[in-house]
Amino acid sequence: MSGWTWCYEGYDPAEEGLRESLCTVGNGYLATRGAAPESSADGVHYPGTYAAGVYNRLETEISGKGVENESLVNLPNWLPVTFRVEGGPWFDIDAAEILEYRQCLDLRRAVLTRRFRYRDGAGRTTAVTQRRFADMRFAHACALEVTITPEDWSGRLELRSALDGRVANTLVDRYRDLASGHLQTVDTRELGEDSCLLETQTSQSKIRVAMAARSTLWRGERRCDAERRLVEEPSWIGHDVAVDVAAGDSVTLEKIVTVFTGRDRAVSEPAAEAARWLPRMGRFGTLLEDHCLAWTQLWERFDVRIEGEQHALRTVRLHLLHLLQTLSPNTVDLDVGVPARGLHGEAYRGHVLWDELFVFPLLNLRVPDLTRALLRYRYRRLPEAREAARAAGLRGAMYPWQSGSDGREENQRLHLNPMSGRWLPDPTWRQHHIGIAVAYNVWHYYQATGDREFLTHYGTRMLVEIAWFWSSLASYDRRCGRYVIRGVMGPDEFHSDYPGATGDGIDNNAYTNVMAVWVILRAIDALSLIPEQARRELMRTVGLQDGELARWRDISRSMFVPFHDGVISQFEGYEDLAELDWEGYRRRYGDIQRLDRILEAEGDDVNRYKASKQADVLMLFYLLSADELGPLFDRLGYGLDRDAIPRNIDYYLVRTSHGSTLSAVVHAWVLARAHRERAMEFFVRTLRADITDIQGGTTPEGIHLAAMAGSVDLLQRCFSGLETREDRLLLNPYWPESLGTLTLPLRYREHPLLLRISGNRVDVTAGPGMQQPIEIECRGQTAELTPGSTVRFPL
Ligand code: BGC
Repeated sequence: MSGWTWCYEGYDPAEEGLRESLCTVGNGYLATRGAAPESSADGVHYPGTYAAGVYNRLETEISGKGVENESLVNLPNWLPVTFRVEGGPWFDIDAAEILEYRQCLDLRRAVLTRRFRYRDGAGRTTAVTQRRFADMRFAHACALEVTITPEDWSGRLELRSALDGRVANTLVDRYRDLASGHLQTVDTRELGEDSCLLETQTSQSKIRVAMAARSTLWRGERRCDAERRLVEEPSWIGHDVAVDVAAGDSVTLEKIVTVFTGRDRAVSEPAAEAARWLPRMGRFGTLLEDHCLAWTQLWERFDVRIEGEQHALRTVRLHLLHLLQTLSPNTVDLDVGVPARGLHGEAYRGHVLWDELFVFPLLNLRVPDLTRALLRYRYRRLPEAREAARAAGLRGAMYPWQSGSDGREENQRLHLNPMSGRWLPDPTWRQHHIGIAVAYNVWHYYQATGDREFLTHYGTRMLVEIAWFWSSLASYDRRCGRYVIRGVMGPDEFHSDYPGATGDGIDNNAYTNVMAVWVILRAIDALSLIPEQARRELMRTVGLQDGELARWRDISRSMFVPFHDGVISQFEGYEDLAELDWEGYRRRYGDIQRLDRILEAEGDDVNRYKASKQADVLMLFYLLSADELGPLFDRLGYGLDRDAIPRNIDYYLVRTSHGSTLSAVVHAWVLARAHRERAMEFFVRTLRADITDIQGGTTPEGIHLAAMAGSVDLLQRCFSGLETREDRLLLNPYWPESLGTLTLPLRYREHPLLLRISGNRVDVTAGPGMQQPIEIECRGQTAELTPGSTVRFPL
């Protein structure tokens, strides 16, 4: 395999789901799983297609209760192409005798190729090559090319190419009891002798989705004189084409598909647009050229080069590819957020959680116009978040833990423990720390870009509303003379309650309390950064008085942070929990990532133990550098001694099961300075998370976008020690020698930069332009970088 291909040899039905996820092709507008074109959803195959932001709500009755869920809708399948020889059975990969099989994703061009040879029941040998892509340049087009070569026979070959609207959301087994039929067919019709259209609508959100397909048959550059026929069934339409072929001759079917939805901009009506654009689409090869150019330009902005560890580099590229297939310049106009599991499957129903916290830092320094657009998704849902706070008797904005179309809380009310078969209440909506993630991203977007206009019109408002939420949730506790925050959940999803309690949350989660203070301070900073008139208008609009600001300052000096045994307590009362017999559980169960499910199935409760699913206290060291945390703890009157960070890491590391893929990212990060080898272990774990389906079954349901982005960010910001703070770019590399020299294109304050880090020096080169000089600091040395020049720091 070259550094730019991701290949699988041989056909393995048991691996098909994983390969489908990892071989998804997408363009930031839509994505299609790498399913076999001849397949339909049958337990082995799942040809899902999802368009960013196309959600629908359905209600299901579970244990006598009506539960409503909003899901990213599995759209009609545009892939179907199959064939048969001499009127025999249609090709079925699971019934054929496969002689050779290879599937490769071209990482540079985002083109999936599947090649195989098979022998049929009559002893005929046939070679098949299929290529597909989701057009990165014109996001409404997808293309599939199927070349068939009869190796040792001549005869009649029939091909069938269709659009299939008989789909549902049935990928995730745990959701099998929930309603899954989101689409209604509006129309199927022939557009011309080789083209047809399928128009559907989502049942509740009433979003039209139209697909038009043109299927043409070629012998090299010559159009084939084929016999063709329209075939139609309810919610399914296509063409059969029949042609005589001779041994050794190849025929190629080109299928070009246009896709429009009722959420698109600059359209009249989806079906009309799909039909109007289809004839404008060139042939497969022409579209491919434009698509490749768009990817070349993307890679110029996104490439990461390391000299060592070529396997690691290929995985990093796979991660970047899937990030860009989910979020790309095509996403900018869509009013969508960051779906935790990409556009690659149905886990978490396509919802937007706090995972953007791990994605934005990478994008901010590459395509900040994209992060700005993604922040606007949150901004537009500010009124909903304000209403949520209001309904809870609070002020400001309470962002939902899971968000979809309109920004209301989309967290499921009940979830199934597959180990016990029980439906249980899902308390994760108490993770109000999601607002911290939004605020953190606003601030860091501003730091990376210096975009004062964004801060003035949107950013400060979000920071202020989120800060206000924390101030209204915080109450003054006379006993300890500090502010406390009760009834929340931290990032660690194993702790939703105190032992024996049901549904009240936990108190004083250290991560939440410290970061709430950080948000309050950034809101105050932002208010002082924007023009005076804008500040006055904003304060009047939201009704913020000087008295409230005084309270914020007070909270920022006296928020309570729990400690025990010389470490920061994950939450108040954590020290009273029991120690878990980690070795015993590992022996009995092997994989104990999801201890919560294991313990519940045993009739026990993970809330009773000092056991975390993922980093919680350690998130503080992930988000804030020691230089930021020190003054923050000093301000709170606690102080952090020099060894506090390693002590906390050691304490929580042995009490964490890493049941979330985010955990390895954070652990690699926090270990990077003190424990290089352990950090590399977690880095490798992050690289393996999806490609080896480390959680045993979740990757086929969708990739883990935050872990993918986080793995690249470990190179971009962690091992390089890169920070954007106080209007400066700071570098403090502790670069692993085994990775060789790192080369990264970056964008900082409108400067295109090239960063090179090797064992003994750092070079930063700025592209030409008219931008203001920037200040770069590396280990205490400061330099000014002007357009077209290079600064060098010896290490
Ligand atoms: C993690 C959350 C995360 C979610 C989606 C869960 O397993 O605990 O922190 O937001 O997955 O990635």
